[in-house]
Amino acid sequence: MKKILLFLFLIPQILFAQYNWCGTADKMLTNSPTEKEQSLMQKIRTTIANSSNSKSQDSLLIIPTVVHIVHFNGNGNITDLQVQDGMRVVNEDFRRQNADTINGNPLFYPFAADCKIEFRLAKLDPNGDSTTGITRTDTSIYPHPEPTNANFNNVKYIVSWPPNMYFNIWLVRHISGGALGYAQYPGTAFTYGGPWETYGPTIRSYEWGTIGTSNSDGRVGTHEIGHCLGLYHTFLSFSTGCGAECDTTGDQVCDTPPTTPTYDCDTSNLCANDLLGPSAFTVDMPDQLENYMSYNDCQNLFTLGQKTRMRGFLTTLDTLNGLYLDDNLIATGLMQTTAITELPNTKNRKLLKIVDILGRETLPKRNTTLFYIYNDGTVEKSIVVE
Ligand SMILES: [Zn+2]
Repeated sequence: MKKILLFLFLIPQILFAQYNWCGTADKMLTNSPTEKEQSLMQKIRTTIANSSNSKSQDSLLIIPTVVHIVHFNGNGNITDLQVQDGMRVVNEDFRRQNADTINGNPLFYPFAADCKIEFRLAKLDPNGDSTTGITRTDTSIYPHPEPTNANFNNVKYIVSWPPNMYFNIWLVRHISGGALGYAQYPGTAFTYGGPWETYGPTIRSYEWGTIGTSNSDGRVGTHEIGHCLGLYHTFLSFSTGCGAECDTTGDQVCDTPPTTPTYDCDTSNLCANDLLGPSAFTVDMPDQLENYMSYNDCQNLFTLGQKTRMRGFLTTLDTLNGLYLDDNLIATGLMQTTAITELPNTKNRKLLKIVDILGRETLPKRNTTLFYIYNDGTVEKSIVVE
């Protein structure tokens, strides 16, 4: 993910880039979230607690998506094909259809999830007009700073589509501070949450997809979208000495072993408290270097616990839980409306006459084939058997 930085920059910047390639900060707001925020988070926690292993995890959630390319005079203006390739990478990762699943530690295979979430480029824009699901904006606003800067969302206010209809992704040519991407958590109860107008990830365009100007595996996208759906880094507990119970500390997911940040792919086991809380494990596990929410280069999985958490956010928050419904898929051009054939209104029609098979008018009779002719032009064939 960070090849270009490794090759182009000096050593101190290599370390800086390595430790900061994701600009998204973890943790809840520490300075007293509002009552409303607390109650919303409690609602999400309840949804998550109630939905693991249930049928609610089976349905495919299709998320209409718009990719905003924010370039300057063509610099960073990547092709539609590269945008589509980036969508491919993200979707393969979310559906566990990625080609490298067998590279991971087999110990974690049983915990790897098909999240049943798919992101699809919208075919209708907010005005109902045809679209590729890609917008292009030429602006000299530069650079796009990390969230530590008060202006970090400057790019998002230039172009965005309604967040209750589309998942917005912004691709930019640069993020000052060294990050390859950063996300906004859903809602305002997070340090890097915020208003819905700016909800979504910001990613360097050369980190998107694997073709064109990309110099990466495209998984910064997978990682940042994970944050947008409520996932923390798997190493979040490192600041508190590996944390405690798995459901309330660290990343609050019980099948991602607590660890500290690592960058290479050497198996290690940096925390020994894997079994605290409602753990998914029966023994202390090695670190899950394969997780998309780690900083390791050998990422290839989300876990079942992360799937449940993401779907908990998607299905609980009012701005998000209409995204994948049929009405919105139709509004964004991802689903065709069903053709409705108008059936004759039979309530108000009047019977004109009854005829037999020879066309002679008759009265109702039993055990005889008759034709009932109505004033709306309909004819019913009828035989009353006694
Ligand atoms: Zn991150």
